[in-house]
Amino acid sequence: MTEMPYCIGCGVQIQTEQKDEIGYAPPSSLDKEEIICQRCFRLKNYNELQPVSLTDDDFLRILNGLGERKGLIVKIVDIFDFNGSWLPGLHRFVGNNPILLIANKADLLPKSVKEKKLLNWMKQESRKLGLNPIDILAVSAHKGTGVAEAMDAIEQYRDGGDVYVVGCTNVGKSTFINRVIKQATGEGDVITTSHFPGTTLDMIGIPLDDERSLYDTPGIINHHQLAHHLHTEDLKAIMPKKEIKPRVFQLNPEQTLFIGGLARFDFINGKRSSFTVHAANSLNIHRTKLDNADDLYAQHLGGMLAPPSAEYKEDFPELVRHEFRIKEGKTDIVFSGLGWITVQHDDVTIAAHAPKGVEVIVRPSLI
Ligand code: GDP
Repeated sequence: MTEMPYCIGCGVQIQTEQKDEIGYAPPSSLDKEEIICQRCFRLKNYNELQPVSLTDDDFLRILNGLGERKGLIVKIVDIFDFNGSWLPGLHRFVGNNPILLIANKADLLPKSVKEKKLLNWMKQESRKLGLNPIDILAVSAHKGTGVAEAMDAIEQYRDGGDVYVVGCTNVGKSTFINRVIKQATGEGDVITTSHFPGTTLDMIGIPLDDERSLYDTPGIINHHQLAHHLHTEDLKAIMPKKEIKPRVFQLNPEQTLFIGGLARFDFINGKRSSFTVHAANSLNIHRTKLDNADDLYAQHLGGMLAPPSAEYKEDFPELVRHEFRIKEGKTDIVFSGLGWITVQHDDVTIAAHAPKGVEVIVRPSLI
């Protein structure tokens, strides 16, 4: 079998079989000299992420409702799950309303990461996904860092209007709003419930002034979130609780790293070099030979390779392999919702295995 080519856009290895999976390009494109995967093609030409169905009808109605109302949309994303916590289609529903992006869980970033670089990357990525935020801020709702600044920004950008906070589950939307409530109302009893037209939902409103409120919209489950595939106990293990400590591994080609049983990273080709894992400190990283990796996973998933724990491993999606050729050193391979591995050296070929449906993306390193 001849080796499949790589996308000139994102570097993923092309496949022509599964339309909904990463790296897909129509078989006819294989005749071309330069091949671009369908995802990059659509981003480039239509500024649009491949449609992912939103299952929650109420949420769609709310989004529709937002476009008809005037107000500032505050979209909260998880710094560790930028792509998994994206709300596909939001840009089509918000009308002309400005969007303020708030990246939460900044307390988990290792010191080596430049927050500015991260915010820049998020801004670029948002644009690629069709959203043009008016501003982007990093906060820690948990610790309260940046929340006062975020409130000032909200006050400035809402321009006297209402505010709608949107986000998918687990990004920390409730934690953030609770902080805002405390700061805005001094824990007074002023929260109102307001019926959102066209839906069966009551939204919580926090008065901003005599006429305007900040509304919490229900979080939506994004089925691409890694968190969505895990049971609560396993979820605790992958959610970093403290600042992440980068872990460095010197690898030879044909070595593999397992991040618990959640993901796998193969160093296929290139000079011996270092790879830095950024994931929850409590997750075990297991190194093995590439040759052994399939067997090891089959035998030890739920045991040595956990989470998922033995109890839940049957429900865990299979790992899907995405191969990348990395031309430049200092590149991050991001496993949405889990963390990322920084490839330090240039000219290497790697394969990232992530649970089916969970995105793997490549970005310049944030260090
Ligand atoms: P929601 O589903 O978006 O409303 O999310 P929650 O507010 O319930 O938070 C989801 C999880 O993320 C909880 O375990 C929170 O403790 C955690 N969390 C929320 N904000 C932060 C934060 O700023 N830093 C950290 N480390 N964890 C956070």
